[in-house]
Amino acid sequence: MNNEQFPLPRSGDISITPCKHVVCSSEIEYKPKEEIKRFQEEKMREALQYLSLHSRFYQQIFREHNINVNKIRHLEDLQQIPFTDKKDLQLYNQDFLCVSPEKVIDYITTSGTLGDPVTFAMTDKDLERLAYNEKISFLCTGTKLNDIVQLMTTIDKRFMAGLAYFLGLRKLGAGIIRVGNGIPELQWDTIQRIRPNTIMCVPSFILHIIRYAEEHGIDYRNSSVKKAVCIGENLREQDFSLNLLGQHIKEKWDIDLYSTYASTEMATTFAECEYGCGGHHHPELIICELVDANGLLVEEGKVGELVVTTLGVEGMPLLRFKTGDLVSIHTEPCRCGRTSMRISPVVGRTNHMIKYKGTTLYPPHINDVLDNTPYVENYVVEVSYDESGNDAVLVRVGLRNQTVEDIVKDLKDRFRAKIRVAPEIEINAAVDIRKINFPDLSRKPVKFIDKRKK
Ligand SMILES: [Zn+2]
Repeated sequence: MNNEQFPLPRSGDISITPCKHVVCSSEIEYKPKEEIKRFQEEKMREALQYLSLHSRFYQQIFREHNINVNKIRHLEDLQQIPFTDKKDLQLYNQDFLCVSPEKVIDYITTSGTLGDPVTFAMTDKDLERLAYNEKISFLCTGTKLNDIVQLMTTIDKRFMAGLAYFLGLRKLGAGIIRVGNGIPELQWDTIQRIRPNTIMCVPSFILHIIRYAEEHGIDYRNSSVKKAVCIGENLREQDFSLNLLGQHIKEKWDIDLYSTYASTEMATTFAECEYGCGGHHHPELIICELVDANGLLVEEGKVGELVVTTLGVEGMPLLRFKTGDLVSIHTEPCRCGRTSMRISPVVGRTNHMIKYKGTTLYPPHINDVLDNTPYVENYVVEVSYDESGNDAVLVRVGLRNQTVEDIVKDLKDRFRAKIRVAPEIEINAAVDIRKINFPDLSRKPVKFIDKRKK
């Protein structure tokens, strides 16, 4: 890409250390653990000073809880500070903004828990931080200067993700094609015309474009695409072997698959390296803690809710933000040489927990049964309250073919065998389910609908 065509970002005024050389990654990821901890503590102290000076929301928290930020010196001390959650962001959205409105460049929204979206405001420095984050995350996935990446993700509609990929790839110097989400015909036309070697998309969409290629006689296996960097859905199990979705893609199309995990609130990505054993943590961008349902730190190797403190964010920095994502942390050094910790595939979301007929379930448990059933083409899981206020689960299924006589009974048996309980089943047309799975205004495929929300 020709950088001369665009004004280069002002890298001089960011507090993180930018990587000067395009093929190297951030150095701190390769340092001994103690050094990473000391480095993070310094960044944490800077972040706390910044919040105490500029954030109305956190000034109030510090006052109410009698917190002297000068006494929060080590990562362990963070536990003295209460959590921030999505509800706080929604109720006190404006109080999180640390800069005057004229410093805001980009406005982003993300879904809130109370119905209305939450607004995130990004300054020039935040966009630069986002670009740096994506650049080092793409480097982690082995993406290089001379690669061409087809973005099958939305770049507008107030989303952060597509913009972040664009900025990161531009900083890396790779070629970018902004096709956006959906429209398999345009995706294949672009692949044949521009010959990208990498695609960036949600994994279910890969199955979607494979199906389109098969139906339209496109020789996808011999196309230019050799790699997919994936977002929004897991590709792996907790032991890092490919999950069914990953296996289904690999069986059809033998391209390299990389998982990434990110969210708007974190403005940070955890990307896999070539060894595919969890998303690598970037210590200069975020502090991670894992907590149990009581808010206490969980032991290493155990599943907990990821709590993050953003570093180097100017517009809307967050302190001990509860992401709602249940993950585990891996701390042994990776074969790629990075020593920073890695995050497991997301086990589930705390607010997606289902109590059904005495069993605690998360949507991935239900998805797993459906993904394992050969005649199921697609599905959506709906959770609502029944008349007594208990969770009710309805699974709407689209079929690939009718290979068994009583599908509802067969599916219920499969559920009972795997998760002990069977949800209600409804058979729908696969084309109708596909419309629910890939709505125009969603960045991620919709396979779970929670009607329990007030
Ligand atoms: Zn690695």
